[in-house]
Amino acid sequence: MSDQQALVSEKEARDVAEAARETEWQHPSFIRELFLGRFRLDLIHPHPRHVDPDEQLRAADFMAKLRAVLESVDSDEIDRTGEIPEPVVQQLRDIGALGIKVPREYGGLGLSQATYIRAMEMVTSKDGSLTALLSASQSIGVPQPLKLFGTDEQKQRFFPRIAKGAITAFALTEVNAGSDPANMATTATPTEDGKHFLISGDKLWCTNGTRAELLVVMARTPDVVVNGKPRKQITAFIVEANTPGVEVKHRLRFMGLKAIENGVIRFDKVKVPRENILWGEGKGLKLALVTLNTGRLTLPASCAGAAKAMLEVARKWGAERVQWGQPIGRHDAIAQKIGKIAATTFAMEAVAELATALHEQGGYDIRLEAAIAKMWNSEAGWHIVDETLQIRGGRGYEMAESLRRRGEKAVPIERAMRDFRINLIFEGSSEIMRLFIAREAVDHHFKLAFNLVNPESTLQQKWQAFLASAKFHPLWYVGTWVGLPRTYGEFGALAKHLRWIARTTRHLGRSIFHAMLRFGPKLERKQSVLFRAVDIGAELFAMSAACVRARMLAKEGNREAVALADVFCRHARVRVAERFDQLFGPDDDATYRLAREVLDGRHAWLEQGIVSQWPASASDAASGANDPMARTVRPEAAGVGD
Ligand SMILES: Cc1cc2nc3c(=O)[nH]c(=O)nc-3n(C[C@H](O)[C@H](O)[C@H](O)COP(=O)(O)OP(=O)(O)OC[C@H]3O[C@@H](n4cnc5c(N)ncnc54)[C@H](O)[C@@H]3O)c2cc1C
Repeated sequence: MSDQQALVSEKEARDVAEAARETEWQHPSFIRELFLGRFRLDLIHPHPRHVDPDEQLRAADFMAKLRAVLESVDSDEIDRTGEIPEPVVQQLRDIGALGIKVPREYGGLGLSQATYIRAMEMVTSKDGSLTALLSASQSIGVPQPLKLFGTDEQKQRFFPRIAKGAITAFALTEVNAGSDPANMATTATPTEDGKHFLISGDKLWCTNGTRAELLVVMARTPDVVVNGKPRKQITAFIVEANTPGVEVKHRLRFMGLKAIENGVIRFDKVKVPRENILWGEGKGLKLALVTLNTGRLTLPASCAGAAKAMLEVARKWGAERVQWGQPIGRHDAIAQKIGKIAATTFAMEAVAELATALHEQGGYDIRLEAAIAKMWNSEAGWHIVDETLQIRGGRGYEMAESLRRRGEKAVPIERAMRDFRINLIFEGSSEIMRLFIAREAVDHHFKLAFNLVNPESTLQQKWQAFLASAKFHPLWYVGTWVGLPRTYGEFGALAKHLRWIARTTRHLGRSIFHAMLRFGPKLERKQSVLFRAVDIGAELFAMSAACVRARMLAKEGNREAVALADVFCRHARVRVAERFDQLFGPDDDATYRLAREVLDGRHAWLEQGIVSQWPASASDAASGANDPMARTVRPEAAGVGD
């Protein structure tokens, strides 16, 4: 059987994802309410502020030490050699940077998530490879799931080692299991006495895998039978990297993050004791998802750190570089970019800080906020890096080392761009984040009324759905048209934006409902429609976060933040209006049809005249897939060009 044939069906992939999904909402969420058309400002305002004077002192001490280490690091050298020197790793160990959140009772720094994300923000502003090392170890590696799901015995065993600086990794991805874990092929087979498991398989792109002492490994344990059908089980194990059978097969190299310690890790009958299972057999995928809920809070802050570094460059170069008689920052085109970079950076920080503060405050379900923060900040940050490169002109494209050699300031924008791009892919790609968010955005309506619009449901199911829907939807729907008028006067110059967000939230809620009525069960497949709704929700969250943060800062005496939040909201409103204009995608069907034609090779003629970069395999050669003319008719010959 070929690899392709071995892949699971779409239904199976969905079933596995659905089984791992957290279905209950025990705590409130601002964004969940937002998608239901309800603007619950009370859930995020006043901005939660976790102030623990003891923690603040310890955090300040740690951040000062971290800054000192970072200032001594030569990041261009790390980028050029593709290696983080061992003394740098040791310095980070010595200051506790690999055990920032490990509780103090186990020898860690015991600092909060808020301090941790600020540390990662600072590290990223200097060196993405160092962020990868620290963050893969602590955001998704062993300490995070250990804290959430570990037994006391497991904590006693592993936390002290991590506090001392043991590097850890998280191994989920495989060649055929990227966004879709249902394809996982790594197995964990129980030994006859049931006391151990033998793990076999290859894990791909495992960050820190080449250097880690401990790994969290996801593997398939034997299926269980649910309702007469076998159900796939994925289980999480803590694996010691020095166990016989663990092998670093390849060290992998990338466009950016040149010194990331990433590899293909082979597991060949690796014997792991049952006591190393985290949480329980079959709970591995859910564990991965829950771990990522908090783990994902790091990336938004890290992206904000990169954005702040870009802002500094845009500000200084915009003022320093004179062309056509004045600093480029005063030419309108560049000024517009600088203004937007500043406003967006402010919003990115607001999003990262708010999501983390909500998590720290407790009693709040963070999963949608974390997903939106990851998706939105990584995309906004990428745009900022791109614009900063443009502001730097040719110097933006030139390597720092080359700038230094000819006596100019070695500002590493091209490195920042190479390092940044992966943020839109790992820890849940932008598309997978949108799918995840969209699933929750429609969940309430689908739960109540799905059978009403599903042509396959029975009369009885339709009737039950009608009753459930009749109880909720009429009153709710009226509420999406007429909201209680509120002025939001305490927000001063930002009040108009909050009134707009409140109105637009209602518009979003009923638009999602209209989409369900219009497309019925097919809505699930209308990714473009759902994704636009998600994007509107994300912009509304970013606007709300920016306003709430500006209000908090203004109260503390910082009036400047209001201008940043105001300009951010003005631009976000334009983006939201565009998305609403296109919500039901007048061009989606035509574009989808065209994509199908492209995939079928009907437009391969367009690739004439190039030198193919796609290495030919035997099957490509047989099918002519590498020959743009093999399966197509030249447009001229078909008379298309006439
Ligand atoms: C530098 C680096 C570090 C990494 N570190 C780790 C790590 O430490 N541990 C680990 O386990 N993994 C790690 N990964 C893996 C990373 O999380 C995956 O790359 C990511 O999950 C996406 O999987 P994929 O690359 O196979 O993309 P694919 O799943 O092949 O997807 C390809 C494209 O299709 C899109 N797509 C896929 N499915 C859908 C769908 N249903 N609808 C719409 N679009 C879809 C994706 O968004 C993407 O754009 C790392 C990867 C890299 C490159």
